[in-house]
Amino acid sequence: MPALDDILQQKLQLLAAKQQRREMVETEAREGVRVRRGGKEFISFSGNDYLGLSRHPEVVAAAAEALKKYGAGAGASRLVTGNHPLYSELEAALAQYKNTEAACVFGSGYLANLGTIPALVGKNDLILADRLSHACMLDAAKLSDATLMRFAHNNIEHCRMLLEANRHEFQHCLIITETVFSMDGDRAPLKVLAALAKEFNAWLLTDDAHGIGIVKSAPADIEMGTLSKAAGSYGGYVCGSKTLIDYLKTAARSVIYSTALPPATIAASIAAIKIMQQENLGEKALENARYFTNLMGLGKAESAIVPVIVNETERALKLSATLEEKGFLVAPIRPPTVPENTARLRFTFSALHAKKDIERVTEILKEALSASSSPLHAGI
Ligand SMILES: *Cc1c(COP(=O)(O)O)cnc(C)c1O
Repeated sequence: MPALDDILQQKLQLLAAKQQRREMVETEAREGVRVRRGGKEFISFSGNDYLGLSRHPEVVAAAAEALKKYGAGAGASRLVTGNHPLYSELEAALAQYKNTEAACVFGSGYLANLGTIPALVGKNDLILADRLSHACMLDAAKLSDATLMRFAHNNIEHCRMLLEANRHEFQHCLIITETVFSMDGDRAPLKVLAALAKEFNAWLLTDDAHGIGIVKSAPADIEMGTLSKAAGSYGGYVCGSKTLIDYLKTAARSVIYSTALPPATIAASIAAIKIMQQENLGEKALENARYFTNLMGLGKAESAIVPVIVNETERALKLSATLEEKGFLVAPIRPPTVPENTARLRFTFSALHAKKDIERVTEILKEALSASSSPLHAGI
């Protein structure tokens, strides 16, 4: 029998041969959108800290104060002794911000989906997911034991077809989608989906990980999201009716069996939500994204995320390396994170990007693109 390490070495080599091996690179966040990597400083177009709140003085001060006052860790799960007083303050702020009756904070966005979806549907139920739904929604769907079907991206007609053909065979039905798609930056037709869900007696769950703080989304039965992106902190949440939240707090396994978030993290999230309510930094991030799409001749950005789809993985990796040489970090995204032959550069825009940096990165990108031959696609 080969040893574990031998088997894993083979797997790693196979991934490397397919250009699918991922490696972590040490990266240090600096002022604004600057990061430090390998002794060099870069302007990053890769982070999800869209509003620059992770380093905002009020957010950092709130976290530092909570750290001193309450210590580093929560010490237990929320149902034991970890349900720190700051939790209810954050949940009230989130419910108000999202305009819902109540909210439940989870350890992360991943854990929010992993806990919520299996708490709501099971063996005799149906989940209809947009094809491009985030990995954690699909993992949660698998964990739930419900039957999972996927509809073509943002394709209402396909979703309706699946409902018409299958809804009657199942007890409950949950439709899941993202508000802003993480790798494409486009938005779901939420109002139409909500009406469709109602028509077929289904529930709608939306993942607002990349929407919160940037663009407002139409209401859904279950509004999930993260505090780790625009809020600049860490943690996940679900907003909805008081009954939904009461139920999740007693039934979502990722809440029950995992330690509560550190008080400093909760304090940072509270401060961040307050700033998001007072200042419209999201508008600035969106404006920067639109400045870029305008300069590039791409369709108008619908969010802070803009993909430049170049198809081949190798081309995406090369373009990213060229930009890096010139001082800009832009993440190359490849299969299996995105569908085959849709490798891309994923640009994310922050409220803190300067116009001149956007102009410069566009210039370099245009030059690199014209040096390589195949045509450029915006969107899939
Ligand atoms: C990032 C992300 C998550 C996970 O949130 P974390 O707080 O990072 O665990 C979930 N859904 C989508 C669409 C995301 O982009």
